[in-house]
Amino acid sequence: MVELVLSPIRFLSLSPHRPSRPFISAMASLPPASSAAESPAGKRVVVCGGGVVGACTAYFLATKGAAHVTVVEKSAIACAASGKAGGFLALDWCDSGPVGGLARASFHLHRSLAAALDGPAKYGYRSLDTLSLSILPSGSPAAAAKSSPSLPPWVDGPTARPPRTIGTTETTAQVHPQLFTRTLLSAVAERHGVEVLIGELDRVEVAGGRAVGVALKGGDSRLIPADAVVLALGPWSNRSPIVSSLFNVSGLKAHSIVLRPKAPNAITPHALFLSYQTAPGAKMLDPEVFPRPTGEVYICGMSKEAEVPDDPEEIVGESESIAMLHEIAGKVSSHLKDGEVEVVAEQACFLPCTDDGLPVIGEIPGIKSCYVATGHSCWGILNGPATGASLAELILEGESTTADLKPFSPSRFLRRSTRQAV
Ligand SMILES: Cc1cc2nc3c(=O)[nH]c(=O)nc-3n(C[C@H](O)[C@H](O)[C@H](O)COP(=O)(O)OP(=O)(O)OC[C@H]3O[C@@H](n4cnc5c(N)ncnc54)[C@H](O)[C@@H]3O)c2cc1C
Repeated sequence: MVELVLSPIRFLSLSPHRPSRPFISAMASLPPASSAAESPAGKRVVVCGGGVVGACTAYFLATKGAAHVTVVEKSAIACAASGKAGGFLALDWCDSGPVGGLARASFHLHRSLAAALDGPAKYGYRSLDTLSLSILPSGSPAAAAKSSPSLPPWVDGPTARPPRTIGTTETTAQVHPQLFTRTLLSAVAERHGVEVLIGELDRVEVAGGRAVGVALKGGDSRLIPADAVVLALGPWSNRSPIVSSLFNVSGLKAHSIVLRPKAPNAITPHALFLSYQTAPGAKMLDPEVFPRPTGEVYICGMSKEAEVPDDPEEIVGESESIAMLHEIAGKVSSHLKDGEVEVVAEQACFLPCTDDGLPVIGEIPGIKSCYVATGHSCWGILNGPATGASLAELILEGESTTADLKPFSPSRFLRRSTRQAV
């Protein structure tokens, strides 16, 4: 079992106080972690949003030589989906669509980042095998069947058929998403002077058709000048009129629980993608189970459309969904039954979703130097690094080389609204 340790982030508080993930529907190189470099671009960049996408963007901006990077976060770093996600990573599960190249580059960047930042110790990075299996409901005729010998011993609930291997240690991996996000920012805070401001973005200041800074809620003293601004606000992106006037970002609520079994060493590194029916003929559920090197087991699923509250700290799980995840945990393994586990967390968060199902990464048409990065849906932890690296290249060098950002350009919505208007 690994105890994960996090070095502190320097906070500057201005506040007075698989191609599809079932439940919701080329080697990239890492810049050397040098000390603060002379900026070739000389750019001061403000990144709004301290989730995984904002943190990755800040990391690569700083390591690629931005003059100064400030992250503005309303609540706490990785307080939302980026802290409550599974942290599962897959090399090739997005290959059949436009996200394939981004995902592959990101999977490799995760490996390089883990080597550079001591990922296994700092944020639980590890490769793991991944299985798909169908768990039988109690009372179904075959429920008394013995579990398959090809299952890890701790998966001792009745299954409908032998498991299918859908990922290996070459193609699937995991991180603890909150620790990953915070470790990235700690690293660049220490080595490159990246600042984290706890404050709420009010608006992007625009002059002469270009972003010149951001205003935070709470008065004029909260104006931060910038040469470029990045909006990485996850499911809150629509709260910015710059975003909502161009495209829609909605939130899909999903639930998770984190359990600590009494015998953590019995749990092997196997990610499980399940199908489960509460009773024959009932709606098929597709929860996911991710054992972590800390000895904890993370289980998520139970998604639904819901209103995103203004304050990320106000997002709570619904009791029926949480109860269902506990039921499923107990069906998967006797080690995860109520009474056999300490409950570490019962929570919910929102996936940021766009209308065409693709992320939006690039410069906002009509506002120079104002960039957006959102809409990563169920793959934001995987795709954060290549998103951040590509966006940093676009901002500092004028084009991205880590991944082709064309499919994700915000201007695709401009073309659509023009077509609709004709
Ligand atoms: C249950 C669940 C499991 C998941 N599992 C996985 C997985 O295994 N693998 C994977 O790759 N992805 C997974 N995801 C998806 C992933 O979590 C998201 O795609 C990703 O976290 C989105 O990151 P983000 O930075 O865009 O948004 P968020 O994490 O939502 O961050 C946005 C940040 O912006 C801040 N903010 C909002 N408004 C303001 C403002 N006005 N001013 C300043 N800050 C503001 C918020 O406080 C928040 O911190 C999962 C998601 C869920 C819900």
